[in-house]
Amino acid sequence: MSYAGLPSAKLSPEFSAGGCASHPPKILDGKTLSRTVGRTVAAEAAVVTKKVGRAPGLAVILVGENPASKTYVASKHRFAKECGLVTFDTHLPASTTKEELAAVIQGYNNNDLVDGILLQLPLPAPLDGAEFVRMIAPEKDADGLHPMNQGLLLQGAPAPRPCTPLGVMTMLDLAMSNVTLSDTTTLADLPAASLAGKKAVVIGRSQLVGKPMGFLLLERNATVTFAHSKTPDLPAVCREADVLVAAVGVPRLVTKNFVKPGAIVLDVGINRLPDGKLCGDVDYEDVAPVSSAITPVPGGVGPMTVAMLISNTLQNFKRKHGLTA
Ligand code: NAD
Repeated sequence: MSYAGLPSAKLSPEFSAGGCASHPPKILDGKTLSRTVGRTVAAEAAVVTKKVGRAPGLAVILVGENPASKTYVASKHRFAKECGLVTFDTHLPASTTKEELAAVIQGYNNNDLVDGILLQLPLPAPLDGAEFVRMIAPEKDADGLHPMNQGLLLQGAPAPRPCTPLGVMTMLDLAMSNVTLSDTTTLADLPAASLAGKKAVVIGRSQLVGKPMGFLLLERNATVTFAHSKTPDLPAVCREADVLVAAVGVPRLVTKNFVKPGAIVLDVGINRLPDGKLCGDVDYEDVAPVSSAITPVPGGVGPMTVAMLISNTLQNFKRKHGLTA
């Protein structure tokens, strides 16, 4: 189904962005915002497909039968197709050898129809994800996790940025804007938020989320603090934040005593509870009333990660062909 054919996006309750704790918080609905990204990518993809004579291509490699990975891969394919991209699918058994996986990656590196390569992580043991991410041609990296692209992020140079932090930044743009999402909104309607004079705290320092998150916030001129498992008095450090990002993997670690009234709270965590339900790193019920904007889990950052992967593939295609639109 094309984006033009999507049903009306469900609107999040709209409140005063960046307001104070006495107002209800703005709920940052990642599903609706991911549709906005999709609509933007679909429109751009249609233009560049006409110019170049082929659509941007995304290759997705899945190794093994991890049920969560299978679900993620299916949603990535679906989203890419809805945006008018061509997708390539390789599903390998868990018994795949290093040489076999390397050959698949090399094949996509050499395939002119492929602009983005996604290797779904984690890989089944003994395969090491980092080793294979390094084999992806940096200019075809869809996830923004290749060491070359992480270095370019530090330099502030153009390169695919890691999808999850990129999705969080778009949610922050929404949080700090007065835009009400509708089924015609595109990213052009959402100004990049300036964080000059704002303090941001990122809990977590992983390669995947925490570190790149901090550098994206720094690019917007935030004063950034990285907090982590060895940080003393974590609640006090977090209470300094105008923008608080939790990327920890500890269910409901962040309670209201971590949050400055009126802060924007962005929850990257996806944790499965013993009863099978998902929850974030933020205790949503406790924190929402003191925040000015907050992401739910599920339905917050998760859908944005998928959307930014597809956006990265389009950007790779445009860079390859020297296109601005
Ligand atoms: P990770 O385990 O690699 O890193 C976790 C970080 O949290 C570490 O840097 C560690 O220092 C810090 N930490 C751990 N315990 C802590 C504590 N008690 N106090 C303070 N800091 C602590 O995890 P990750 O890959 O960065 O993922 C973090 C969370 O985000 C997980 O729940 C993961 O499932 C989720 N995630 C979600 C998405 C998405 O699309 N929404 C994408 C990637 C990861």
